[in-house]
Amino acid sequence: MLKIYNTATRKTEELKPLSDVVKIYTCGPTVYSEAHIGNLTAYIYWDLLVRALLANGYKVKRVLNLTDVGHLVSDGDEGEDKLEKGAEREGMDVWQIAEKYIAKFKEDYKALELLAPEVWARATDYIAEDISAVDAMSANGFTYETADGVYYDTSLFEHYADFARLDLAGLQAGARVGFSDEKKNVSDFAVWKFIHEGEKHAMRWDYLGRPGYPGWHLECCSIIHKELGEPIDIHCGGIDHIPVHHTNEIAECYGAYGTKLANNWMHCDFITVEGEKISKSIGNTFSLADLNERGFSAMDYKMWVLSGHYQGTRNFTFDSLEGAKARRLNWRNQIAECYQNKVAETNFDYTTILGAINNNLGSPEAFALIDEAKLSLDDWKKVDELFGLRLIADSPNISDEIRELIDERQLARDKRDFGKSDDFRDLLASKGITVKDTADGPVWQYI
Ligand code: AMP
Ligand code: ZN
Repeated sequence: MLKIYNTATRKTEELKPLSDVVKIYTCGPTVYSEAHIGNLTAYIYWDLLVRALLANGYKVKRVLNLTDVGHLVSDGDEGEDKLEKGAEREGMDVWQIAEKYIAKFKEDYKALELLAPEVWARATDYIAEDISAVDAMSANGFTYETADGVYYDTSLFEHYADFARLDLAGLQAGARVGFSDEKKNVSDFAVWKFIHEGEKHAMRWDYLGRPGYPGWHLECCSIIHKELGEPIDIHCGGIDHIPVHHTNEIAECYGAYGTKLANNWMHCDFITVEGEKISKSIGNTFSLADLNERGFSAMDYKMWVLSGHYQGTRNFTFDSLEGAKARRLNWRNQIAECYQNKVAETNFDYTTILGAINNNLGSPEAFALIDEAKLSLDDWKKVDELFGLRLIADSPNISDEIRELIDERQLARDKRDFGKSDDFRDLLASKGITVKDTADGPVWQYI
C-alpha cells in the first residue's frame, strides 16, 4: 500500500486513512495573478497522489481552497492584501480580480488534466465559519486584541513549535530591534484583522463592532472543519508553508476546537528556472501560456514535473523540457506501434509501476520502468490513468483519410516518383504524421 513521507513525523510511513474515503486538503492559490510554472508543480504532484490512492482502491474527498482575501504581500500580518495589489495593478476591483484569476487557475488546472477536487472552496464563502472559529478561540482563551486585530497567543499552545521544529527562543531573540508592536510573542499572528479609517480594503465584514477581514491561515482551518471534519488524512502544500502557514493552521484548529488538524502532511519542494529563483524581477515567471508560445504543451510540462520527485529541489530548463516532450512523444509513438500491431511481445508489469508510486510517489522510478518495458494498448491506458498525461487522447489512431495519404505516398515511392511522394510526406507532416520506411514496410509516427 501507499507509503508517504509525513512531514509531521519526519518519517516515510504507510498511509493509514481513517476510512475508505481519504480526506485530503490542498492549500490552493492566492488568486491575484496568473500562476507561474512553480506554483503549478504542487497541483501536479498532488494529482498524482490522488490518482495513486484511486489506483489503490480508495475513494477520495479532496478540498482545494482559493484564497481571495487576507493573504498579505509579506506572507505575515503586515502589508497590502495581495488581492488589493492585483486590483491596483489592473484597474479592477478585488472581486473582479478574484473572478478573473479563479477562472484562469481553473483553465490551467484543466489543461494539466488534473482531477477536479470534490470541493473548490473560496475563502470569502467561509467568513461566517471564520468568525465562529475566532469566537471559539477567544472563548478558549487563546486570543488577545490589539489595535491591529485579534491575535493568537502562541505561547498558550504548548505544541506550537513542534510541527516545524521551531526555535522560538531564537526567533524571539532575533526579532527586530525595537519590536514594539502589541504582539506578546514574535510568533503570535492575526486571526482577524481590523480595517482602520482610510485603509484601502474593499473586502470587509463587521465583527466586534468594526470592519475587518480574516487573517490568511484561518480559511484553511475553517474550510477543513466545515467540509471535511478534522483530523483529515492528508494535508498538502508547498515546503514554504511549513514554518508559518501550516504551523498556524494547526494552532488555530487546536485553539478553536481542541482538535488535531491532519494525521499526515506532505510538502513539495521548490523549482528554480535556469538556475535562478522564480521572480518577477528576473522575468522568469513563466506561465503555461508562455510555454505554449515556445512550442510546449501543458502535458509536456506535466511530464517534466513528474519525471522528478516531489521532494526534490528541481531546476527547470528549456532543454530538460525538450527532453520531457521527446519522452512523451516516444511514449505516444509506442501507442502508434500498438495500433499498427508492431508490438510483438509485451513485458509490462503494472504492479511494479504502482509499487514505485506507492513508495512515496516515486514517479521518476516509475517513468524509468515504463521506458524500459514494452506495453500493450491496455497497458498504456493504465499508465495514462495513473499519471493523467493524455497519452491516449492525444494519440488517436489514424483516420481513413490519413491512411489513404500513406498508401498514396507508398505508391508514388514504389513508382520512384519521389517528387510526388515528397508532396504526400509534406501533407502528412501538416497533419502531424510522419512515415518511416523500415524493413517491415512503412510505419507511421506522430511528430
Ligand atoms: P506565491 O504566489 O509566490 O506566494 O506562491 C504561491 C505558492 O506557490 C507558494 O506558497 C508555494 O507553495 C508555491 N511556489 C511558489 N514558487 C514556487 C516555486 N518556485 N516552486 C514550487 N512552488 C512554488
Ligand atoms: Zn492553507
